[in-house]
Amino acid sequence: MNIVLLGAPGCGKGTQSAKLVESFGFKHLSTGDLLRAAVKEGTELGKRAKTYMDAGELVPDEVVIGLVEETLKQDPDASYLLDGFPRTPAQAVALDGVLANLGKKLDHAIALKVDNEVVVARMSQRRVCRDCGFPGNVETGAVCPSCGGEMYQRDDDNEETVRNRLAVYDKSTTPLIDYYRGNGILSELDGNQTPDEVFASLKEAIA
Ligand code: AMP
Repeated sequence: MNIVLLGAPGCGKGTQSAKLVESFGFKHLSTGDLLRAAVKEGTELGKRAKTYMDAGELVPDEVVIGLVEETLKQDPDASYLLDGFPRTPAQAVALDGVLANLGKKLDHAIALKVDNEVVVARMSQRRVCRDCGFPGNVETGAVCPSCGGEMYQRDDDNEETVRNRLAVYDKSTTPLIDYYRGNGILSELDGNQTPDEVFASLKEAIA
């Protein structure tokens, strides 16, 4: 089974992804994590992506699509959980094509809906692990409970950039909701609930 998690930044995609991986053994493919790794390694792709990421803008489609295609091909038999991809209609169409070439398809698109003000409040509290990407918040403390790495605040989690990322999401990614509704694989869930409540709805949606 392959699924896509859609939702504005801070809607809880990272938290729900971790739960899905733990319970169902999905392979987690987060384009944000892949891009941050490329920035950290200082690759050409990372250098190109960083300017867009720091501004809260989308990295160009061809860069991200290439990255996803390369990653999916590394383990074509796995069940993938795509987090943060696709983010534009062009990416959604490309994903369908890449999956079809691998003899696979998307089974579910899950959209987590959260109020913008809830997102802004959550993001100022958000902390992630520099090494493994563990999703936490200020209460997690400075040490990652999963791998012992350093918990830090992402550069793009400041209020101004978060508001821009929300605007970018509304403009570029909202059309995907209609795309997946049209394909008959969309489930829309209330992401304002607690993580455990959201996860319960999510399990029902993919059952
Ligand atoms: P995320 O961790 O998913 O919030 O992504 C962080 C940043 O990486 C975004 O604000 C974009 O600049 C970039 N990014 C991640 N995924 C994509 C994507 N599918 N398309 C374009 N840019 C992306």
